[in-house]
Amino acid sequence: MPHRSIPALLLLAAAGCGGGGAPEAPVGTVAAYEGATLITGDGDPPIGGGVLVVDDGRITAVGRATNVTVPEGAAVVDLSGRTVMPALVDLHGHVGFQEGLDYDYANYTRENLLDQLNRYAYHGVGTIVSLGTDPGDLAFEIQAEQEAGTLGGARLRTAFRGIARPDAGPGAATMRPTAFGVSTPEEARAAVDEIAATGAAFVKIWVDDRGGSVEKLTADLYEPVIAAAHEHGLQVIAHVYYHDDAQALVEAGVDGFAHLPRDAEMDDALVAAIIENDVFVMPNLSISERGRHAEPPAWVQEPLLLESVADDVLARIRASFENRTPEAAARAGESYGAMARSLKKLADAGARLVLGADTGVQDHVPGFMEHRELELIVEAGVSPAEAIRIATSAPAEVLGVDSGLLAVGKRADFVVLDANPMYGITNTRQISAVYLNGEAVDREALRAGW
Ligand SMILES: [Zn+2]
Repeated sequence: MPHRSIPALLLLAAAGCGGGGAPEAPVGTVAAYEGATLITGDGDPPIGGGVLVVDDGRITAVGRATNVTVPEGAAVVDLSGRTVMPALVDLHGHVGFQEGLDYDYANYTRENLLDQLNRYAYHGVGTIVSLGTDPGDLAFEIQAEQEAGTLGGARLRTAFRGIARPDAGPGAATMRPTAFGVSTPEEARAAVDEIAATGAAFVKIWVDDRGGSVEKLTADLYEPVIAAAHEHGLQVIAHVYYHDDAQALVEAGVDGFAHLPRDAEMDDALVAAIIENDVFVMPNLSISERGRHAEPPAWVQEPLLLESVADDVLARIRASFENRTPEAAARAGESYGAMARSLKKLADAGARLVLGADTGVQDHVPGFMEHRELELIVEAGVSPAEAIRIATSAPAEVLGVDSGLLAVGKRADFVVLDANPMYGITNTRQISAVYLNGEAVDREALRAGW
């Protein structure tokens, strides 16, 4: 069995998985994946009848069959009729809180984190950043084991604990204590020093008053955060809600946004400032979009969703829509419309957009919602090719990881699809196989375990 699974699942894998889907290449040999349409992830047109050569987890050749020499002795995997794209890279998740219907910090265990990383991998998410809600060493231990090659699943990166005013960070009450609560510039700098000492991927800050219910992190506190983070060579990602905070944060030197403003459409000055300062933006549409429905939308019936989510959780998801009044849905629809228009403005202006689906928030299903995010990005007016770039090479570049692109030297993290997403972005859900670090994820065994 070549797939590198998480230990808890090895028994399942050994118990009876025949490895359906695409054929698996033997371990320790060079593999050539032939005949597929290749979407490389850089926004270029797809390569028809392409060849992808993988050796020891790395891509060693990629291109048209006529331009690639397959090494002698390579195991050939026929992917005719299929489409291959890079595995997704999501810069915004929150691992560890949900377990079945229960949403609580008590679920933040190694076992649950590994289960969620398998869920991401199952759906073709190769790398997930947990954004500011990971206390302690656990996420770093998992990251180190993955780097050592002893643990599979989607690659985890973490922003450790983010920064807000005391008890005013993440939305969910059970997450709140994970953030640093700061009240003075000194405390703000000290928090950044502590975050930097862990080797965190980013510094996350929450700049939001949650509808007036909590104190907002103000400029006198986030300015020293940004300065200290930059001294440590760390990028700062801000959760924002209000348009004017976004403008002030750009002026203060923030590196990225975890959301679009939700109170107003971005004005031209803000778009221009984002471009001028090269700020990256996660549209984070899929959570806000849910609010505009007063009855269950079509995706709650999708086979890919039903494969990983238990019936009681599905029932709660359905009820969340049914319990909403038409008036509330209309208000959410207006706010969402402004977000979608902001996204289109940013895309047209050439802003650095990157995938951030906020999965791991309650009932925002890890792995599935990344695909929903892609669909909404396209619905907002972005081309499928560009949307895939936003979900692969663009976030990989921001994070500084060697994946997200079908190119020589990159880690062989890719998804084999039964249909081409260029002809309909929801085809990213027609997953035939997922390869991470050159090894097939045993999707059948994972599915059996759910
Ligand atoms: Zn979040």
